[in-house]
Amino acid sequence: MAKPRIKHYLINEKYEDPGIVIEIDTLGEYILFDVGNIRRLDRHLIRKITKLFVTHTHMDHFIGFDTLLRNKLGKEQTVEVFGISPLAENVYCKLQGYTWNLVEFEPRIVFNLKQYNNGLFEYYSYDIKKKFARDFIKEEKADPDIIYENEYYRVRYAVLDHKIPVMGYSFEYKDRLLLKKDSIKDLPLKGREIGEFKKFLEDESNAGRSFTIGGKEYSWEELREKYSYIQEGIKISYVTDVVFSEENLEKIIQLVKNSDVLYCEAVFLSEDREQASKVYHLTTDQTAYIAKEAGVKKLVVFHFSRRYAGRRNQIIEEIKEIFPNVE
Ligand SMILES: [Zn+2]
Ligand SMILES: [Zn+2]
Repeated sequence: MAKPRIKHYLINEKYEDPGIVIEIDTLGEYILFDVGNIRRLDRHLIRKITKLFVTHTHMDHFIGFDTLLRNKLGKEQTVEVFGISPLAENVYCKLQGYTWNLVEFEPRIVFNLKQYNNGLFEYYSYDIKKKFARDFIKEEKADPDIIYENEYYRVRYAVLDHKIPVMGYSFEYKDRLLLKKDSIKDLPLKGREIGEFKKFLEDESNAGRSFTIGGKEYSWEELREKYSYIQEGIKISYVTDVVFSEENLEKIIQLVKNSDVLYCEAVFLSEDREQASKVYHLTTDQTAYIAKEAGVKKLVVFHFSRRYAGRRNQIIEEIKEIFPNVE
């Protein structure tokens, strides 16, 4: 089964600010998870970012909002921002840190923000034409699992404990039915008929039914087998800045279960477990345990404490003892 062409990677080296990029070229979507120092990213990529998911606003996860803003100026666009309270306040304060008196000639830039706050989703909008005033749009009861979803993918979340509430995220690109281009061109179907044909094949409740092509009837099963294939989705999870507690563990494992790739912090070596729990972070063995329990296929670690400068291999080796497929 083919996998969608989706690129995903850490923004920085493992001792530097956390964050990942997900690039979906086919949709023209470029997504950031956390926005610490992002100067390493190509300026053209930053200009294309459509969505930003923030775990929390400790400086190492949020200082790059300025770089993002700086690179967004000059091109009309909307950026969607997701996270947890007080993100709306923090974004507002960032935007109000500058003077916006000459923006009437600037292309319109809008930040639309959705944040989780005590069981609610709150929506705000910040428009450059209004000098980025904070417009409260609406609030609604929060979906307990999904913070964003479209036809192609969804982003799930969990509220985790880092002495403050932080978000853990899981990006799930959905399975898709695609037509075999080479075989389909032999069928006497045109334009809209191809769309209807695809819809018929997509709908599993059509099993046992038939579809008429050129006056002849064919079964759903036969057509599906011959003219389509399933592009298997992909699950990429991102969890950082969490303490090793029973409650967190349960929520994290539920969120990241069976991920193709789990990006997870591994801030401390196992010998510094006490220090880790004091500052609400994970150790190598705790991260490895989570990856193992959740049955993820691959683990990528980051957010190494600078106290271990030059000991990168030791950190990785500790994890490998429990969870071998790590980098
Ligand atoms: Zn933090
Ligand atoms: Zn951090």
